[in-house]
This record gives sequence, structure tokens and C-alpha cells, in this order.
Amino acid sequence: MSEEYSIYEHLEPELLKDADGNVVKYSDRVALPPSILESLVNQQQRLSIASLPHPLIFRLQAEKSNSAVNSFVGVKEFTSQEGTILLPEFIYDKLVSPDNNDSTINITLASDIPKGTSIALKPLELYPEIKDWKYFLEAKLIKSYTTLSTNDTVCISEKDKVYKLLVEQAEPTSAICLIDTDIDLSIVPLDDEMAREMSNQQDTETVLQYGTNAVTIADTEHSHAYKLQLDNSNDLCLSLSINSQDVNLVDLLISNNQFISKDSLQWSTIPFNENSNINKNDGTISICIPKTDHWIEGKEFVYILPIVWSEGESFKSQLSISRIAEAHVTTSSLQETLKADEAKCSNCGKHVPKQSISLHENFCHRNNIKCSCGQLFLKKIPDTHWHCQNDAYFGATIEGRDIHQKLHHTEYECSLCSTTLPNYIQLALHKSTECPERLHICRYCQLTVPQEVPSAEAMLSSMTQHEYQCGSKTTECHQCSKIVRQRDLQTHMQLHELDRKQQVAPIVCANVNCCRILNEPTDLQLCSVCFGPLYSTDYDPNYVKLKNRLERKYILQLTRGCGTSWCKNVECISSGINPSLKTTTLKEKISHISNDLLTSVPLINQNVVTAKYYLCVDNLVTKRKFMADMIYEQGQYEYGWICEAVSKLSFDENGSEMGQVSSMEQWLHKHAVKVGE
Ligand SMILES: [Zn+2]
Ligand SMILES: [Zn+2]
Ligand SMILES: [Zn+2]
Ligand SMILES: [Zn+2]
Ligand SMILES: [Zn+2]
Ligand SMILES: [Zn+2]
Ligand SMILES: [Zn+2]
Ligand SMILES: [Zn+2]
Repeated sequence: MSEEYSIYEHLEPELLKDADGNVVKYSDRVALPPSILESLVNQQQRLSIASLPHPLIFRLQAEKSNSAVNSFVGVKEFTSQEGTILLPEFIYDKLVSPDNNDSTINITLASDIPKGTSIALKPLELYPEIKDWKYFLEAKLIKSYTTLSTNDTVCISEKDKVYKLLVEQAEPTSAICLIDTDIDLSIVPLDDEMAREMSNQQDTETVLQYGTNAVTIADTEHSHAYKLQLDNSNDLCLSLSINSQDVNLVDLLISNNQFISKDSLQWSTIPFNENSNINKNDGTISICIPKTDHWIEGKEFVYILPIVWSEGESFKSQLSISRIAEAHVTTSSLQETLKADEAKCSNCGKHVPKQSISLHENFCHRNNIKCSCGQLFLKKIPDTHWHCQNDAYFGATIEGRDIHQKLHHTEYECSLCSTTLPNYIQLALHKSTECPERLHICRYCQLTVPQEVPSAEAMLSSMTQHEYQCGSKTTECHQCSKIVRQRDLQTHMQLHELDRKQQVAPIVCANVNCCRILNEPTDLQLCSVCFGPLYSTDYDPNYVKLKNRLERKYILQLTRGCGTSWCKNVECISSGINPSLKTTTLKEKISHISNDLLTSVPLINQNVVTAKYYLCVDNLVTKRKFMADMIYEQGQYEYGWICEAVSKLSFDENGSEMGQVSSMEQWLHKHAVKVGE
């Protein structure tokens, strides 16, 4: 057991420097003298222990300003001078007081630090540029730190900026080891603002736009998918600049399914079957997906996962998204035509003046070696240059060769359904399309469920088996209460839509103060309520009696008024809207009635097409009319539809005006036809 090891030394602290001679600032990894490693190995052999504890963690103790301070550290290397310990500045400042030149550090092996299970970190400032703390820390923390303790402040430097975080909590003990363990990392928000931002971020995906986008390319464990809304009328072309990376090490993975992962996708820039839509040049990798592609047709979104196959790598780059492929400069177009006084070198193909061609060729054959793939190397083909034995691929790094082997020539078993696939690309396509365990969101129940093995019927209706079965369940149409199958509901609703659009707007009562709907067209174009006082069973072939009744009603309105407080009738003295009614004589009023009011009444005046009346109405109609006019001003619907909507409102309870407007708008949206629809 590691408890048996005993290391106890006094060392003189110095600052740790990197290969360029700069002081290492933020890390907990120290450099120790080789004798400590020697001593550990000797003890290991004496105690017959299979291996040294991993990672090695030491406890450092020192006296600073008359009090004991200590810190746990990991080891960077065993290269310091005997008797000295090299500390990153961060640890140095913690243990050594600036004015004390002869301080010593006591070092012991800390064999009791358990692997961490969870930590909670709290950023000590607002760092708005960090959108995903977990991702940021997972990528950075173990690069510099071996161990953390509660109440420690961790500093991480990234692009000249230092991020400070307080260790609020660590499990299972207050000091934990970060290496070779899966730690549940949680972020404690610094303040309310940060808490709000963190909760907002949880449901927003990173959305890409056509044009140039900044993206992060990370290894398969840390890569992050981006979402793009498709323009279905054009091809989709993606082009990623990868700077100096080996083209075999970086790929764009693309899927029409949001559950994209490194091995579940439909398209990728992994070169396969001589796919001419993929281009991998030095510095750029690109792919074009034609709009007619089976998997992209009719899809609203695609999900893009940029990855680098090398573990632990991560870099930022530019992803261009366009509707047509950018022209690629082909090598043939770069070839210049041979001039009259030039000759072509048989080795490197360069154009050289004729008089010096033999000199050049001699030199060239001696110094340049041409590989069978066409690449030219100075003197020797480097060991890292490789050709695949199974196909025409070649590359410049051993890692690239291994990735090629892994993606193209290795059999895989689907982790979900155990089907065997001949290579990685087939595996990825299988997992994103036909695998019965592939997850999707059911269009009917809206749950994330496996798609299952499709029956012939499901395939015919372009549904997954789950959706086909889910869609066979029935539901009640909220408009007509008919029982319909889920999968027929859409067609059923389209019929309702069609019916709705074919309707004509209801006819409104011709009384300008009224907004009631006419159940059927009438000669006078008045609603039954407004017509009520004018109704008579008397024989009246020339409408003389009708004219008299209407005239009498108008005289009453203009002289005595209807006597109500709510009246808004311009031709009623009670409303007060027309003040001149108080001063005009009866004779003037009678002539106004016969010249202006009765002339717009059908039956009385044969020429009237659109009738117009000015009759007093009750309080409820006055309120409804007010609401209807308000909505009508927005110009979205014909007046008839609005009057029908307003007739559905109940004014008996103290409903708010806003609530009434919105319930009218809902009714209109569902039943009415918009202007121009
Ligand atoms: Zn040459
Ligand atoms: Zn070659
Ligand atoms: Zn190959
Ligand atoms: Zn499968
Ligand atoms: Zn379902
Ligand atoms: Zn229905
Ligand atoms: Zn009316
Ligand atoms: Zn009135």
C-alpha cells in the first residue's frame, strides 16, 4: 500500500520556468529533484508494489509570516537541482513570503487524496465571454492542475486573461485528485445576473448563419454541435479553415437529427468512396450537400459538429456556409504553359531555362526524391509520410494514418443494437438513420424515443415505427369534436382551414350604432332588434306607414332623446355629440330627417343600395360597438368578422379590456378570414 512510502525532505523553493524561460504562473505541478523519484522507486521494489501511486501528490508545508501554510501539489517532472523545488508562481506566492530569502519547504507524499467525484466552483468575477463554464473548465482544469482543495482559488490563464474561481465544495473529501476520474462539475453563480444568464443558456443552442461563423473545434469528447436553419432551395456548402492542422485529423460531421454525435451522422468530410463533394486541401476542408440529397430534402435544420480526432485538442476557426460551392483552385489551372526557351524537369516537373536543364536535373535527381504519390521530398521521404495499403490515401502524420485506419478499415459494432458495420462511416450512417434504437422526437407525443424497426406501412407513410403506432391513437378535434387518428389530424385540420377561407364575412346591421349580425339578409338591412320598433302587421304596400314610424322615431331622438347616459348616437339629443340639436327648430329637424336620414333607407328610397340608420341602441351594444371599432382600426379583418367576434364576448363579469381584445383576436384567428387571405 502507498501508506508505506516515506518521503520527508527540506527543499529550497525557486520559481518554475517553461522551455522558453518564462515563469510558469497558474498550475499546481512542481519540479522535484530526481533523488525523490529514486527513493520512491527503491521503496516500491522493497515493498514489492506493482506500480507507484498515480498521480503522485505531495503535501508541501512552509512557514510564512510566522504561521504554517500548506498546499497539495502534483508533479511536472523530476529535474530540479538536488535540494531545490521549482514552484509555479501561484504556489510560490502561497508558501513563500516575498521578504524571506531563506525559507524552506517540507515535502511529504500525500497518499490519502481520493479521486474527486464532484466539485463546485464559483467564478470570482463576471467573465461574459465564457458561455459554457463546464466545457471551458473540463478542457482547461486538468491541463494545469492535479489536485484541488476546498477554499482554494484556482487560476486559469487563457489568451492573456486570468480566470479566478473559488473551490466552494469538493467531494468525497475537502482535498481531491482530478486525474483519471469522472468529476461532476457544477458552477456556482457569482450573483443574480450570472444565475439568470446561466439559466438562459441552458435551452439555447448555438445557431449558425449563412456566411462566416466563428466555431470551436474540439476532440470527440468535448465537441459541441451547431444548428443551422436550412435554405432548402439551394445546395448547402460548408468550408472550414483548419490552419496548419493535418487534413486527416479534422472533420465536419453533419446530421439532420439533433442527436448528432461523433458516430451518429449522415454526412461528413471523411473522404469516402471518392466522394467528389468533399474537398480537403491544405488549410481548408469543405463539403457540399446537394439540395436533392435524400436526407436533407424537406428538413428545416441540420446540425454540424466540427471535430479534431486528436484527444485533448481544441482550437477556434472560421466556418463559411454558402449556397453554392466556392471555386477551388485546382492544381492544373496553376500549371503554366511551357515557354519556348524552357524545358520541364523530369523529376520535379518545374519549368527551367533550356540551357540549365541538365544541370538542374542532375541536381534535382540527387537531392529530391519523388514519392509514388507525386509528392517531392528533399533527399529522404520522412518516416511520418504514409500510404494506405488498401486504397489511394496518403498523408503526412502517423496520427493521421491511425485515424484513417480507424475510420476506413476497422469494423465496428453498433453500441445500441449490436449490428456489425464494416467501417466507421457506415456505423455513423447506421446510427443516425436505420438503427432501431436511434432517438428521435415523435411528432405526435413529442417525446424523445427510439424509432424501432419500421413496418411496411410505416415506411409507406414515411414515418418511424414509433410514430406510425403513436399516430394510430385517436384524438378529438378541438374544432368539430370529431374523433380522428393522430396521423390524420393534420389533413383533417387542413379541411377546416379550407372551409374557413371559403367563408364570406357576416352581414352587419345597417344601423351605424349597432354591431349585431344579420342571421339572413333583409330588405331594410336591419337586425331584428333594431327593426323591432318599426315592425307592423298593417297592410303597407307603398311603405308609407314604415316611413311614418321611422320619421316619428327620428323626431323623438332629435327632440326628447332616448334619455340614456350611454347613448353615442350622433342623431340623438341625449348623446350630446351634436350640440346644434339643442338650438335648431322642429321645422329644421323635420327637414333634416326627410332630406338626410330617410333618403338612405331602402324601400322608402328605391335608389339605396347600402342602407344607413341612426337609431339608439342599448348599453351592451354600445360597449360591443366600441370594442369592434377598436379592433377594426387595425385593418386585419372585415367589419362583419369583427362584429361576430365581439358578439361572443360576455360583458357581465368585470373582464379587462385587454382580455377581451385578446379573446376576440383568438376567435378571429381561428374562424375569420383575414383581409387579403
Ligand atoms: Zn527538378
Ligand atoms: Zn507518398
Ligand atoms: Zn485506406
Ligand atoms: Zn444500431
Ligand atoms: Zn409518440
Ligand atoms: Zn374537426
Ligand atoms: Zn341593429
Ligand atoms: Zn339616444
